[in-house]
Amino acid sequence: MKKLLICFDVDGTLIDDTIFIWQTLHDAIGTDPTERDRWSKAFWNKEISYAEWAGKDIAMWRDKGVTRQEILRHLRLLRPMDGAWECLKELHRDGHILGVISGSLDIALEQAFPRWEWVFSHVFLNRLVFDENQVLKGVVATPYDIDHKADGLREMAHRTGISLNDTVFIGDHFNDVAVARLAGRSIAFNCKSDELEKVSDVTTTGTDLRVILPVIREFALNDHTALNSVIS
Ligand SMILES: [Mg+2]
Repeated sequence: MKKLLICFDVDGTLIDDTIFIWQTLHDAIGTDPTERDRWSKAFWNKEISYAEWAGKDIAMWRDKGVTRQEILRHLRLLRPMDGAWECLKELHRDGHILGVISGSLDIALEQAFPRWEWVFSHVFLNRLVFDENQVLKGVVATPYDIDHKADGLREMAHRTGISLNDTVFIGDHFNDVAVARLAGRSIAFNCKSDELEKVSDVTTTGTDLRVILPVIREFALNDHTALNSVIS
């Protein structure tokens, strides 16, 4: 069986009850929707960088004096995807290298998977910074979100010495399209994007992450799963 580099998106893939954690937290914290919209549009119109967009969003949370405890309280409403921890443990036990490439927040991954460091070798996502009183101070933005998720996979493959052909990406939405195209194999899970479904090797149905286990076993055995097959 081949050793694979298996990378996961977080929001909507490893964590349920959210499509994008940023939106979920904006809603919970009660920031101004007009201002949110303004910075989102500025990013998508290429007027500001991703890091600037993240900084503007975080400034809105900081203006509300948000603390680590408060964010954790909001995140407690989100659950790990069904079967996610069991799935990660099994892939890790099988000797694959696991990674995260996501625009989510470190605190969300930590909250949903307290033992994440045990299964994930490399984690690329946004990191929140708090001061000594646990008040939100800033963010270290990931260089690897949206189209740049593909660069994240290239970097992770390089760091782990695994060929891109032996990489797998699992994601759920339009921001996973570029990395799904690049990965040796890709799985659209809990999928909300026609484009992602189109570019992925396999689309699964249902919301129990264990559905990907037999698919990955086939990839590792180098069986050729038909492009665009649907597995439930
Ligand atoms: Mg997602």
